Order: sequence, then structure tokens, then C-alpha cells
Amino acid sequence: MAEKNEKKTDYAKPSLLESRVKEGIRKLSAYSVPHFDAACKLDGNESPFHLPSDVASQVEKALSAVEVNRYPNPEALAIREIISRTSDFPLDGILLGNGSDEFIGMLITTFCGGSGSILIPVPTFSMFGITGTALGVHVLESPLDGKFDIEIEPFLDIIEREDPDLIFLASPNNPTGNVFSEEKIRSVIDRSRGVVVVDEAYSDFSGHTFLPDVKEHENLIILRTLSKVGFAGLRLGILYGREELAREINKVRYPYNINSLTQAAAEVVLENHEFVNENIQLIIRERDRVYKALTGMEGIETYPSDANFILFKVGDADAVFGGLIDRGVLIRNFNRPGRLENCMRVTIGTPDENDRFLSAVGEILTP
Ligand code: PMP
Repeated sequence: MAEKNEKKTDYAKPSLLESRVKEGIRKLSAYSVPHFDAACKLDGNESPFHLPSDVASQVEKALSAVEVNRYPNPEALAIREIISRTSDFPLDGILLGNGSDEFIGMLITTFCGGSGSILIPVPTFSMFGITGTALGVHVLESPLDGKFDIEIEPFLDIIEREDPDLIFLASPNNPTGNVFSEEKIRSVIDRSRGVVVVDEAYSDFSGHTFLPDVKEHENLIILRTLSKVGFAGLRLGILYGREELAREINKVRYPYNINSLTQAAAEVVLENHEFVNENIQLIIRERDRVYKALTGMEGIETYPSDANFILFKVGDADAVFGGLIDRGVLIRNFNRPGRLENCMRVTIGTPDENDRFLSAVGEILTP
């Protein structure tokens, strides 16, 4: 009887994806880098250089002494002390992140409160927009000018009108490669009533930093990373800001965000940084060589770079990308409608890798 009375309704549950995953997230594309095994990997803006063998053995020794059954030092104190000493910046204004990526979310959580707004110039590093959308804040965009510099009047208008909580300026910018003009960055810092983050992931290759300006501007935060100068696998980002701001941001940091192995290895490499500086100088020389060579090729438009990569435009980026893969060279294809149509980004590698890239492009573009 009971079975008979049990009437099945036609009521269909809405799909979990539609009812529970936030609309902003359903519409997002994950940050993804197409992965191909290539002999010549020039797509990730990493350093092509391995650790010198004497530093590698010191790292090995430090790693073998780590007690992985214990939690790491919660404040990653030893590394922060080295960074404070070498950058001459107060210890309490320095925070460490699991890559500088981690700070993007921490900053939005701290300053936008889940409902505010961020302002970014476009095109720029995609994680600013992705993280902003994921955290439910309004992402305001202002197009860069013809030289990929900040178009200052509209940018300042948005600041005036919308009063964004947070502004992200990657300088040098990714994927365009250029630094923004100092004067324009300064006027953004001066006019903003919110916090301005200058992301200096690539500043080692530009020779310019806004770090000293933190002293004069309470609303300025600088982000750096070890990823581009030889240690992408360690995942170590650095935030510099006024102590009162750093104290607030530190409240949303996950406990133990810098693992023990990273702390041990970073301590060694930060104390042995001469080889890092030499490699940076070599990358800068190679960047200028590759830029010149690419600029001399027919069918390519190059954009000046202050970073460890070069953005360039071809007639058919998808075809060039495929041709490079066939020749064992992996770069990043940014081809999409708009400013980056048919644009590609090559990371500067070792001299041999750069030669291989240049001759592959030459072959592909020569009919
Ligand atoms: N900022 C910019 C401008 C970047 O290009 C990148 C890496 N693609 C990052 C931040 C993140 O670097 P990481 O998380 O490796 O420190």
C-alpha cells in the first residue's frame, strides 16, 4: 500500500552546477597554459638556468635537514629577515606568499570585502581579473593606449567616478612586456583613494622599481616574485607595504603558506644571489638580441620589452604556433579577438634556445 501512495513528482532538481556554483565562476575560464612536451620551452616566463652545482648541493643539504613531520615556521621568519636586510625594507612590512599569485586574492579579500571593485588596465596579467571575478568583486577595465602604456585620462576618470578599492598595475606588464610611464603610475598613486598595487614580477629585467616610493605613499604596495629569476618551482612571492597595511593583509594569510622545503631552499638561494644577477644580465642581453633579430624579419611586428619575454604579432599566429611546435619550440599564443589578435609571446631562453626559436620562426615565415 505504502508503495502505491508514494507518488513520484515531476519536480526536477536544478543542477547543482546551475544552482550552487556562482554565476561569475561558471562563466570564467580557468587559468590554463596548454601543455606540450617541447625540447625548447619558451612559454612560461621562467628562467632557463639551473642552479650552479655548488648552490645545488647546499640546497640538497638544507632540504635533507628539514623535519617534514613538523609544521613550517609560521612567519617564514628566516627568509623575511634576509629579504629585509638585502632590500633595506622594514621586516614588518614584508609578507611572503605561495607565489605572488596568492597575494592577488589576499589583497582583494582585505580591501574589497567581497563587494567592492578593482581597476586594471587591459590587456594585463589575467589572474587579476580571474581572481576578482572569483571573489565576487566588480572588475573595472581601462584599455591601454597604442603603445600599451596607461591611457591616463580615462584611467583617472574611472578612479574619480568609481573610487576602486584596489588598482593593479603590472609594470613591466604581462603580456605586453613594457613598463608603464613612471609619471602616469605616480599620478595613479596620487589620485587613488584606494590601494595601488604595482606588480613588479619582471622588474629585475627593467632596472626600475617603485619600492622606495612606499615610504612616501601609504596606499602603495609592491609585489615581487622569485619565479622569473630562477625559482618558479619554489613558489615564493614577496609583498612590500607599509607596516599598518601589511598587518591587515597578514590576517587573511593561510597559516603555514610557505612550506618547509621552500623555506629551506629559499634561504640558501637568497644568500647566494650573485649567480642570479649574472643570469639576469645575460637574459637582458639576449632579449635585446632576439628583439633585434625578430624586428628584422618580414611579417613580424615586435613590441619593445623591459621584461624577460617579447610580445610580437604575425599574420597568422595559430599557424606560426603549430609550425614552432612541429620544430620542438613552445611559446605562448595569445591570439584572440581584440588588441592581442595574432600576438604571441616568447620567453627569453639560453642563447642556444633563442637561436633555435629564431631559426624556426625564420623557416616558418619564409615562403
Ligand atoms: N604577476 C605577473 C605580472 C605575472 O606575469 C605573474 C606570472 N605569470 C605573476 C604575477 C605570478 O607569479 P608567481 O605566482 O609565479 O609569483
